[in-house]
Amino acid sequence: MEGNGSDTLNVAVIGAGPAGYYTAEALTGGHDTVHVDIIDRLPTPFGLIRAGVAPDHQSIKNVSRRYEATNNRSNVRFVGNLSLGRDITLAELMELYDSVVLATGAAKDRPLGIEGEDLKGIIGSGPFVGWYNAHPDYKDLNPDLRVATVAVIGNGNVAIDVARVLAKTAEEMAGSDLADHAARPIHGSPIRDIYVLGRRGPLEASFTPNELREMNELEHCVALVDPAQLPDPALDPALTGAAKKNMPVLRLMAANRPDSKPVRLHLSFYLRPMAVLGDKCVCGLRLEKTRVDDGCCVGTGATEVLPVGLIVPCIGYRTSPIPDVPYDERYGRFKNTEGRIRDRLYCVGWAKRGPTGTIGTNKPDGLEVAEKILAEVHPQGREGRHGLDRIVRERDLHIVTFRDWKKIEAAEEAAACGGAPRRKITDVEEMVKLAESR
Ligand code: NAP
Repeated sequence: MEGNGSDTLNVAVIGAGPAGYYTAEALTGGHDTVHVDIIDRLPTPFGLIRAGVAPDHQSIKNVSRRYEATNNRSNVRFVGNLSLGRDITLAELMELYDSVVLATGAAKDRPLGIEGEDLKGIIGSGPFVGWYNAHPDYKDLNPDLRVATVAVIGNGNVAIDVARVLAKTAEEMAGSDLADHAARPIHGSPIRDIYVLGRRGPLEASFTPNELREMNELEHCVALVDPAQLPDPALDPALTGAAKKNMPVLRLMAANRPDSKPVRLHLSFYLRPMAVLGDKCVCGLRLEKTRVDDGCCVGTGATEVLPVGLIVPCIGYRTSPIPDVPYDERYGRFKNTEGRIRDRLYCVGWAKRGPTGTIGTNKPDGLEVAEKILAEVHPQGREGRHGLDRIVRERDLHIVTFRDWKKIEAAEEAAACGGAPRRKITDVEEMVKLAESR
């Protein structure tokens, strides 16, 4: 769509993940006079759909077709390989656009805050998931998987994803887009025991029933639960929510035999990490036994040591701060009131709420913030995308458009083999070269 008349509302959305796309969809649906540029530091769109959703959960990734339909609107544009802070400042974007929406997600790991956290062999879920999902930032992570025992800390879906990807065989991963550089060490690893550690109990776990069920259906890995950690079965009828559906699965796991498959997945509850042990590399994890009082985790003082060679904390994320944007340290997100940070500056998704909710949660969230913007911000005849194009030319920036991205996508699909949907390219320069090819 051409034209940047004084009636055009120019919006820049920073971050091309689900939150950014749902916001763009809501802003432009039925509003021809709203122009949205979705800017991302990577040359690839779709954020966590590409680099966060597990490689063996391809059906979840199909939602990207909806984002593609949004991108096909004439008033929506993807501007990839343009980094806020490196290539352009927030102040410049605020000058060019009537409104800026931060949809930057939560890319940093929440720290465990315990002794030994910096030892080699402890790798947060951000880098670890990014590595097996071929995120360019983590392509060289090269974790040492030549270990017998792994501890995955946390009882959320990310912990389940990590444990499952480590436990599945190459055959079970066929049809996934697991990064080549991760497939080799994972499938060649001698891992025999994977501990998924919850600091509270099975009733408080935040993993969802479908994800838990999958863990009881693995070819080479048996899921185990200590029956003594499950509540009295007489209480099951009174359970609600996810716990109601999780409990029958956990009871099945409690009846599994440890020697029935070569790899064991231990779902261990009531243990909280106290210290990571080791000299230069991780060799163990000191844990305190806990109990749950009124939903809260309370230490008992009793400790035990779990000998492990690799620890992957999956305990949540934090949004990366941006200079001059107020930040809520407690929740690891931007300070905002229902998405509004200050005049003309908004946030959506994990940058607004903190790292909770599924992909679908971003839809109502994006709609709410889009409606707020449409009600509160009025066109001021700003340059919008024409101004951005000018800066891109002046600074000789190599941006990637949606059409360029389709070339990268085609190359990835053409390189796929063995039933994989794509073979992801991990090198940004290679992607940009492809994007600029004819
Ligand atoms: P999450 O669901 O919030 O789980 C975080 C886990 O870490 C909780 O069990 C929490 O325990 C634990 N934890 C936090 N701090 C800890 C500490 N210091 N020591 C020990 N344990 C600690 O977060 P997530 O797994 O990162 O997932 C983020 C969001 O993405 C969730 O909404 C999730 O459902 C979603 N997601 C969905 C899928 C899917 O649908 N397949 C896949 C991946 C992620 P407490 O409960 O005791 O705080």
